[in-house]
Amino acid sequence: MLEIKNLHVRVEDNEILKGVNLTLNRGEVHAIMGRNGSGKSTLSYVLAGKEDYEVTEGEILLDGENLLEMEADERAAAGVFLAFQYPIEIPGVATMTFLKAAMNAQRKARGEGELSTPDFMRAVKDAAGLLEIKQDMLKRPLNVGFSGGEKKRAEILQMALLAPKLCILDETDSGLDIDALKVVSEGVNKLRDPERSMLVITHYQRLLNYIVPDVVHVFSAGRVVETGDKSLALELEAKGYADFDESNAA
Ligand code: ADP
Ligand code: MG
Ligand code: MG
Repeated sequence: MLEIKNLHVRVEDNEILKGVNLTLNRGEVHAIMGRNGSGKSTLSYVLAGKEDYEVTEGEILLDGENLLEMEADERAAAGVFLAFQYPIEIPGVATMTFLKAAMNAQRKARGEGELSTPDFMRAVKDAAGLLEIKQDMLKRPLNVGFSGGEKKRAEILQMALLAPKLCILDETDSGLDIDALKVVSEGVNKLRDPERSMLVITHYQRLLNYIVPDVVHVFSAGRVVETGDKSLALELEAKGYADFDESNAA
């Protein structure tokens, strides 16, 4: 589904990604682990099509299509979803209204008509039920005064409604207490699907106790330096990143 080949990316004249190679098959959940500053968020932004990232070399293919030639809204229409590390607050806009706008934007980019209110209400009710989200949260402005756990629930709800084929979760675990972590992980696990691939970015092994990945990649200094199964996350937790940094230098 997703092929990243020799990806080099610059931000403000600094090379941040230095030849990333990664293949993610349909239905698989891959984790990317790496220390702070290794370029994990940069990779997720480049995948989502955020501006100000200059790709100097390499390619990204989504089901064989050149993702780098697509605008951010075209990527969303094609089924790419990025859950941010720091969710934005939107004062004055009810979460419900935001979700409807997000769904309609995706539909528009796909050349589909607007969702009717009853169809939207039904979709929200189904998704909120699946994720055990209380309806009253949806009437409040998006993320304003939300707890860390509520922000993540809102994000996972948005993900459920947009039904992406590629989900990128960038440090969805940061700032969550253990109960919220379980709720979010359960939500993500419910959205696992043979047609959906997920890239879970984290620097804590503990998230992967709940969202068990098929494949783990270790990221260091802007590259994937090691790929393995879920036991690699445990090895990393035990040894720390230093060993992997050396394999990067070699
Ligand atoms: P991670 O998510 O692994 O912590 P990031 O992708 O956020 O890493 O950052 C990787 C490196 O790129 C860091 O050294 C960071 O300072 C740098 N960087 C990220 N964004 C910018 C930016 N907009 N301008 C300059 N440097 C940046
Ligand atoms: Mg970071
Ligand atoms: Mg980051």
